[in-house]
Amino acid sequence: MFAVPDLPSRPRGRYAPSPTGLLHVGSARTALAAWLSIRAQGGTFVLRVEDLDGPRAVPGMDAAILDDLRWMGLDWDHGPDVGGPDGPYHQSERFGHYEDALTRLHARQRLFPCRVSRKDLQELATAPHGSGGLPPYPASLRPTYLVPGWFEELRNHDAPDAAIRFLVKERPVTFQDHVCGAVTEEVHAAVGDFVLKRRDGVYAYQLAVVVDDLLMGVTEVVRGQDLLDSTARQILLIEALGGAPPAYAHVPLVVNADGDKLSKRDDGLTIQSLRAAGVTPEAFVGYLGHSLGLLDAPAPCPASALVARFDWAKIPKQPWRLEDDLAGRLQER
Ligand code: GLU
Repeated sequence: MFAVPDLPSRPRGRYAPSPTGLLHVGSARTALAAWLSIRAQGGTFVLRVEDLDGPRAVPGMDAAILDDLRWMGLDWDHGPDVGGPDGPYHQSERFGHYEDALTRLHARQRLFPCRVSRKDLQELATAPHGSGGLPPYPASLRPTYLVPGWFEELRNHDAPDAAIRFLVKERPVTFQDHVCGAVTEEVHAAVGDFVLKRRDGVYAYQLAVVVDDLLMGVTEVVRGQDLLDSTARQILLIEALGGAPPAYAHVPLVVNADGDKLSKRDDGLTIQSLRAAGVTPEAFVGYLGHSLGLLDAPAPCPASALVARFDWAKIPKQPWRLEDDLAGRLQER
């Protein structure tokens, strides 16, 4: 049975990397902000590995990410390597919780099976639109009749032939973000009824993140601004599961010297490559602290010394543009 636990007495934040690639400057900056915010409030910090999508997770990557975070001087109170009351801390070991949450949503009549393919949906589009380049799922495709037992039958199937979608009610969702201010989104118009479990049996990020944040007592979600447009969907799910939304902060992205989003080509911007180039943790963290508006100059500084300086009001609202040859510049500091 899925039940939302009481909120913890102290603020609780988390960093939730997907082990699909090495930690890079952008994700390290977000992790630092998440950690500083919670440490500044005397709260509890949780580390969770989001390895939902088996084939995309790279073996050993989670350990490498954790090692980079520790190198930066970050620590966590609950996590895969230190344990904690709400584990396991790998999403790949939490499928039972996601299934329980689906059962609860089903009992509340918020789910339906969907056999419409991505291709069918794309063909419905008159213009490029919505999340992931897909048009919003049209309410006209909702089934008018559900065969009793459809949910149990899909659940017991090794190779389900249908995705499970969440019925989105028509109403705007508004939330306050520590960086972006008041944000309003019309989920029904932007994405429509969204997928919670894919046709191939993989649980959707939106479901897993909501279930884990609720069960782990997370009161503050800090992540990259690329996930800002997921938040309204997650709030609808939290409410449907009987929980209360956490506080949110979406940290602006880091872009390369050309102003583009960091990609595989920006290989030199992984923490591993900075470490291999001999950059010290203090030089790197001081640089990040400066980029977050917490230090006047990018002078070397340990993470712990930034805690007392942390304030969401100082965080720049624009993407942070990296200079050319970051490793070279940091080596000198
Ligand atoms: N696992 C996601 C990522 O690495 C972050 C999810 C979240 O913070 O909500 O991008």
